[in-house]
Amino acid sequence: MIDLVTRSALELRDLVAAGEVSAVDVATAHLERIHATDERVGAFLRTLDDEALAHAADIDRRRAAGEDLGMLAGVPLAVKDLLCTRGVETTAGSRILADYRPPYDATAVIHAREADAVIIGKTNMDEFAMGSSCENSAFFPTRNPWDLGRVPGGSSGGSAAAVAAFQAPLALGTDTGGSIRQPASLCGLVGVKPTYGLVSRYGLIAFASSLDQIGPFARTVVDAAELLTVIARPDPRDSTSIPKPPPNLLAGLDDGADGLRVGVVAEFFGDGLEAGVRTRVTEAVERLAGLGADVVEVSLPHAPYGLPAYYLIAPSECSSNLARYDGVRYGLREEGATSAAMMAATRGAGFGTEVKRRLMIGTYALSAGYYDAYYAQAQRVRTLIARDFDAVFANCDVIVGPTAPTAAFPLGAKTDDPLAMYLNDIYSVPASLAGIPAMNLPVGLDDDGLPVGLQLMAPMLDEPVMLRVARALEAAVGFATTPRGPEALEAPAAA
Ligand code: GLN
Repeated sequence: MIDLVTRSALELRDLVAAGEVSAVDVATAHLERIHATDERVGAFLRTLDDEALAHAADIDRRRAAGEDLGMLAGVPLAVKDLLCTRGVETTAGSRILADYRPPYDATAVIHAREADAVIIGKTNMDEFAMGSSCENSAFFPTRNPWDLGRVPGGSSGGSAAAVAAFQAPLALGTDTGGSIRQPASLCGLVGVKPTYGLVSRYGLIAFASSLDQIGPFARTVVDAAELLTVIARPDPRDSTSIPKPPPNLLAGLDDGADGLRVGVVAEFFGDGLEAGVRTRVTEAVERLAGLGADVVEVSLPHAPYGLPAYYLIAPSECSSNLARYDGVRYGLREEGATSAAMMAATRGAGFGTEVKRRLMIGTYALSAGYYDAYYAQAQRVRTLIARDFDAVFANCDVIVGPTAPTAAFPLGAKTDDPLAMYLNDIYSVPASLAGIPAMNLPVGLDDDGLPVGLQLMAPMLDEPVMLRVARALEAAVGFATTPRGPEALEAPAAA
């Protein structure tokens, strides 16, 4: 009996295409896995059993009839609850949208469905994608499948945990300042934040529109590249979508790292970097040299200002974007004597602590008299960081460093200290501010047996070279994707 949940997306697709297993069997195996494990993990806000099985049955029928199938036919896909799914509750992890059913699908969801990926559920997340631990969900925290006492990272923690727990081979997440890369790092996964504009944001509930991007989680680089290929398309419904054909992400994947120039960011190895992360990341860089890459040290002098700039720009944009939750148009309403009282009551009851903190910081940073000192200043820093990257990329094909300064931390460890939580994003926000592609590749375990991730960054639209280097290193590292944890979470033995 083939153990389906440990298979990669590509293996599943090929098994389904060859008729060796049915798409219904694949969907059933993953739904059973979710129902057996998710009480402990908490990756899903809801599963879509009936819809998934119906789509899978349709794929099997079309295969039997000799019809064409999509490039991910029969592959289960988990979708972050920040992406609109027509007729299916989409909450953004917030009470204010607890019963919201969008009348349309996000463009990325449409493309995934057209590729015949089978959407099996919507995943938990930090409220409105604000957080680095998934503990800011209004519903429940998600746990890290490697150690259930620890966080999976965030904000796309549910998507990461689902893939790490073998509940799905693929998931969609979103990354504004690290929300794909950091949970991928903490859960031992490949996670890609594409170039800003490569994937349509239409139907993605907005947090900080100049930073938000949708991207894939997978257990292998090739799987991530396949899913990204499916969703990376121009979209006239998103004015920031890049209006030209995307680069071919699959063509040169196996070309190796020989002869490529890899810059190692000096500023990413300072205070606050855990010893175990430093060791594994340094070893990974040495392996790259062993693969023939020309490894050089580089400097991003303004990168240390990335975190303060990000924590002004992102809250500023969210204070504007979240003004739409007013108790009138959609979502929760708490009644009040006047419309202002109704709005205040609705927002007071509907938003959690972290969202309120950001709304206040952002409103303040944008207010007359403070705009220049905070928001405009942060935008200037953003430009300086983008120029730092340009200067380095004049001589380097990709640049690398740690994705996050720590491995997965215990639940509750940082919930009382927002700054400590924000510091987990210190290495991920610079690429977000510059709009360049960046990804996490798992490169080993620390002394506690927790995954450590390497971050790879490339110039705009140079995803192919980034994925190619990641693929070469992945093969050299041979990272095992077996989760640590209680009996119920251990990977079922492969066939
Ligand atoms: N952790 C960062 C924040 O809280 C990034 C979140 C994200 O990328 N959505 O803003």
